[in-house]
Amino acid sequence: MRTVLLGAPGSGKGTQAKRLEDDFGWPQVSTGDLLRAAVASGSELGLKAKAIMDAGNLVSDEIVLAIIKDRLAEDDAANGFVLDGFPRNGTQAADLETVLADLGFSLDCAVLMDVGFDILMKRLTGRRTCSVTGQLLNVYFSPQSDLDACTEAGGELIQRADDNEETIGNRLEVYQRETEPLIEYYRDAGLLRTVAAEGSPEDVYARLRTALGIGGN
Ligand code: AMP
Repeated sequence: MRTVLLGAPGSGKGTQAKRLEDDFGWPQVSTGDLLRAAVASGSELGLKAKAIMDAGNLVSDEIVLAIIKDRLAEDDAANGFVLDGFPRNGTQAADLETVLADLGFSLDCAVLMDVGFDILMKRLTGRRTCSVTGQLLNVYFSPQSDLDACTEAGGELIQRADDNEETIGNRLEVYQRETEPLIEYYRDAGLLRTVAAEGSPEDVYARLRTALGIGGN
């Protein structure tokens, strides 16, 4: 499966991409994660990206294209991948087609993860990662036992630098302006599928699998 998960920040793309990776072995390719790794490594690219990411704006198409080109050429992406957070504008969507054509691949579909505004805000402001287990949690939605398990394991619930209210507002605006037009782009290409992405991660995953034609038991 070669697919793009489209959707606003907080629509659950990362959570669902990880599940597909665990169950089917198609790597989650998240430009956000790759950029955060570059920032953490202190590389020149990371230094360039950091201020832009902290403000919730888009990193340049050139930087992101270079990252995605290298990542999709790796061996583990040969049998499929789930793109999470890329493409984010029309230029990147066109770049993706070129990169895939060069590798001899094409997209099977693009899935829109559809979530209302109020839920997005709660998902983003409540989102935390456990510093010990790496588990993605949410102070509004995760079972208290999962939140306690992290702290009992000596972990801390870490909030992403760009998950503060000011930056979140800008990220949602950037999404509407730059990324939402891709819904029409993929609809016109006959590749769009839409998943109602509210509710528990398990329920969303079941709907996503159905949309991908890999619905399970
Ligand atoms: P994400 O983890 O997908 O929410 O991405 C976090 C931040 O990384 C975004 O707010 C952007 O600053 C940057 N970023 C991630 N993916 C892209 C992309 N495809 N194009 C430009 N910037 C990106």
